[in-house]
Amino acid sequence: MKAPRADHVVCGRVLAAATPSGLQVVEAVGIAMGRVVSAGTRREVTDAAARNARVTDAGRAAVVPGLHDSHLHLAALARARTQVSLDGAADGVEVIARLTSALGTHRPTEWVIGRGWSDAQFATLDPGQLDEAMGERLGFLASHDGHSAWASRAALRLGGIHGGLDDPAGGRIERDASGEPTGILREAAIDLVAGLVPETRGEALAPALEAILREMAALGICGATEAGDYTAGAGTGPYAALGDSFSTLAGLAGSIDGRLRLNIGFPAGAISNAAQLGLRTGDPLGQWATLRAGWAKVYADGALGSGTAALHEPADCGRRDAGILRVPREQLTRLAVLARPAGIGLAVHAIGDRAITTVLDGLAASPTRAAGVPSDRVEHVQLLRADDAPRFASLGVVASIQPVHAAVDRDMVEACWGGRQDRAYAWRTLVNGGAGLVAGSDAPVESVNPWLGMFAALHRRLPADGRPDWRAGEALTLPEALAAYMTAPAQLIGATDEGHLRPGARADLAVLDTDLDVLLAADERLAGVRSNLTLVDGRETPLG
Ligand SMILES: [Zn+2]
Repeated sequence: MKAPRADHVVCGRVLAAATPSGLQVVEAVGIAMGRVVSAGTRREVTDAAARNARVTDAGRAAVVPGLHDSHLHLAALARARTQVSLDGAADGVEVIARLTSALGTHRPTEWVIGRGWSDAQFATLDPGQLDEAMGERLGFLASHDGHSAWASRAALRLGGIHGGLDDPAGGRIERDASGEPTGILREAAIDLVAGLVPETRGEALAPALEAILREMAALGICGATEAGDYTAGAGTGPYAALGDSFSTLAGLAGSIDGRLRLNIGFPAGAISNAAQLGLRTGDPLGQWATLRAGWAKVYADGALGSGTAALHEPADCGRRDAGILRVPREQLTRLAVLARPAGIGLAVHAIGDRAITTVLDGLAASPTRAAGVPSDRVEHVQLLRADDAPRFASLGVVASIQPVHAAVDRDMVEACWGGRQDRAYAWRTLVNGGAGLVAGSDAPVESVNPWLGMFAALHRRLPADGRPDWRAGEALTLPEALAAYMTAPAQLIGATDEGHLRPGARADLAVLDTDLDVLLAADERLAGVRSNLTLVDGRETPLG
């Protein structure tokens, strides 16, 4: 069949495709019926287009395939906008100040819900200082990395937490010298209170989601993968059995469809429910054009910042601690046995080297994937044993990285992971071992800006960090980083017509505000790149 004539010609310096080995640049692409129908010189594409075609001329600016954020928490990102933000507070004093000002806008009986604190901030507080500020109010504050939470006295009581209560499996209730809970809950202990917290749901979340979709479009993002929840509890509506994030986003699908190609993950505890609903990883969700079922999420360990990443040798800052392994190898294999025949891929959160070894062991003992079932993925991969690097390729497991974490965590890694810093965020080692990489943001933990992530992938520092690049030997090249945000996420679900702008591809693209040469220079300006025009299936999406 002959391709239709383009009714929209986009000229500029068009990145037709980014692969780890190089970039293919053309002068123009022609678009018709939501797809790229021509690519080449200005002359070629214009001559082949319809006479009255719309022309977008970007001049010397870069036009790129729409970016895909392979790990974010979109429901939580929207919800975070409705909560008290403790992100970036300089110290405990600022945490208290932000909370106190929020108390003024809350009724006395209303929960005070916040997120974004860190152990470093809390370490500057006197014992009991937070409780003093909160009084008898119900309060729940999730940490920056989401692997810890602080609950107020009243919230602890409501959750039945007291000095005499044992730690739950896979979790820890932090206690003071007299054995009384300090309010800080780690990993599975968070659930003792989290389930009681009234989250913003459904239509009430729509305005915050709208704002975020516009921000993402303005960053050139056309696709994303919702990482999924830890438990299947707290779901609502027709997809209640798949947990809070999945059911919340499915409930708001009408606002997302056509604007963002979204893979929505669900907790591994819901694999049977997903199979019953006929959901397969990468397959379309319901009647929606751009929504798909994602991966089943498993949490194998905690996080660096909360001291709960599972390590082969104990961490060495504050307390010596080998972290919390949340899923033994056998359980992982059992999950794979359930997931494989249902066509569901696993996404396993594993940060510490012991967690990663355990996950790879568990997958090695699992039945092989049938053809067409998307690869399993390990999320984060922050500390890696050299022996484990080639196992990603041999087991067909993809590494899902969030480059900004390296830039933000560098000091913590140097302080806590003594003697093994060269194995932290070992992206070059992964690539050399043959692993496929996809990249994401982990928003709301970090900024959703993929260009900041791209800068961090190349430099392993934040743009404002005046120090030299951190352990630059493990950095990615620009083509590798672009591929991890463009072609690789599409390849992962077998979508050969996404992630690039060659003829036949879906017209998901961003006309950037930045000269291609600036992009290629890959210096601090990279983090400031924005899109002037973002298309999904050839249709313009609203920018914010
Ligand atoms: Zn995450």
